[in-house]
Amino acid sequence: MIVGAGPGGAMLALLLVRRGVPVTLLEMHKDFDREFRGDTVHPSTLEILDQLGLAERVHEIPHSKVYGPSFMTSKGLFQPFDLRRLKSKFPYILMIPQSKLLELLTTEAARYPEFQLKMGANVYDIIRENGSVRGVRYQTSETQAEIRASLTVGADGRHSRVRHLVGFEAVKTSPPMDVLWFKLPKIGADIDAGSGLMGNFRAGRILVILDRLDHWQVAFVFPKGQYQQVKAAGIESMRQAVVELEPRFAEHVQTLREWHQLTLLSVESSRCLQWHQPGLLLIGDAAHVMTPVGGVGINYAVQDAVVAANLLTKPLLEGQLQDQHLAEVQRQREFPTRFIQRFQAVMQGRVLAPALASTHTTIQVPALARFLLRMPILRDLPPRLIGFGVKRVRVDG
Ligand SMILES: Cc1cc2nc3c(=O)[nH]c(=O)nc-3n(C[C@H](O)[C@H](O)[C@H](O)COP(=O)(O)OP(=O)(O)OC[C@H]3O[C@@H](n4cnc5c(N)ncnc54)[C@H](O)[C@@H]3O)c2cc1C
Repeated sequence: MIVGAGPGGAMLALLLVRRGVPVTLLEMHKDFDREFRGDTVHPSTLEILDQLGLAERVHEIPHSKVYGPSFMTSKGLFQPFDLRRLKSKFPYILMIPQSKLLELLTTEAARYPEFQLKMGANVYDIIRENGSVRGVRYQTSETQAEIRASLTVGADGRHSRVRHLVGFEAVKTSPPMDVLWFKLPKIGADIDAGSGLMGNFRAGRILVILDRLDHWQVAFVFPKGQYQQVKAAGIESMRQAVVELEPRFAEHVQTLREWHQLTLLSVESSRCLQWHQPGLLLIGDAAHVMTPVGGVGINYAVQDAVVAANLLTKPLLEGQLQDQHLAEVQRQREFPTRFIQRFQAVMQGRVLAPALASTHTTIQVPALARFLLRMPILRDLPPRLIGFGVKRVRVDG
């Protein structure tokens, strides 16, 4: 049984039911339609969907493609890397509403009789017997109920109730920024976002602009701890700040009228020391929260799901699941997680923190960084890390 139908839980459910393992997937919300939960589908996830025969269907969803970032520096436009250099059928990040990805995964899972999806089912307690987790109790709008299972997977996100209920602590680090997400309309011929993602810097603020086909998705990045100050300054001040960062948005920002049009992402980075105990496994954000650098949170949740399915299908089918199988999932996924979190911390410390502390009107890229990123072997590292993580993960069987 899986708690949480985010990318991790929905992918794990699909992978297990297609191999004949019965799965109940519990989701506290009544639908998948939530704003700004992360809409990036990386090359790694696209290759996994391709293995499952779903690549064509995911590309039928109206989408845009991001090939890499570009930003204006004191020495002109700088493109640190380009995903088009990846050796992959899908050398880009596909931008689709996350709700559509979740609908695709759960619709596909529903083709198998082993799959049961319970929406509006909010897990509030776990069932323990003889030192093992044996299921959960959940609440719907009508009733309270319980489900028993040989394995409970907590895929319930960054504020994981399951993690809290089993008493696992996440070790947190504090990244230097927070983010306000919002949408702006496309107007007429409009600006050219180059390879799909543009970063503008000015006096301690960063604006990240993503091309979303029929609108712009915009991230206003500011130093951690300043949210109350930014909010107190009000919506007019926010409009001005956006236009200072991107003067071509002068008309677009007029659509920002109410503070609730902005969604705060309190940027966090954390990792549980222990992801499992008898009868229980944590995956995705429940086990580790990533910062937005590289947009890898969904990718990593999906990769956790693939590794978990590869390792657990056989023991689940044979009724032989033991804690050592769950420990192996953590062992295989912990290093990639630590590595990418380290990479994010370095980027935050070396690039974002100085930019957020700077009073300059453009970002300065050190000559050494420009030189190193011209060397083919180094130039290809960031796209590989962002596209695939530390190593490519494939679905067995
Ligand atoms: C504002 C914002 C923007 C983001 N942008 C990006 C991005 O651009 N790219 C990227 O890769 N990542 C992004 N992320 C992170 C990304 O959304 C997560 O890393 C990813 O969704 C993790 O997937 P998951 O399946 O582990 O958890 P989640 O996607 O968080 O899914 C957990 C699910 O569990 C459900 N749930 C929670 N508690 C319970 C309960 N008690 N009972 C039943 N169900 C429960 C939730 O409703 C949710 O559907 C963003 C996150 C936020 C908050």
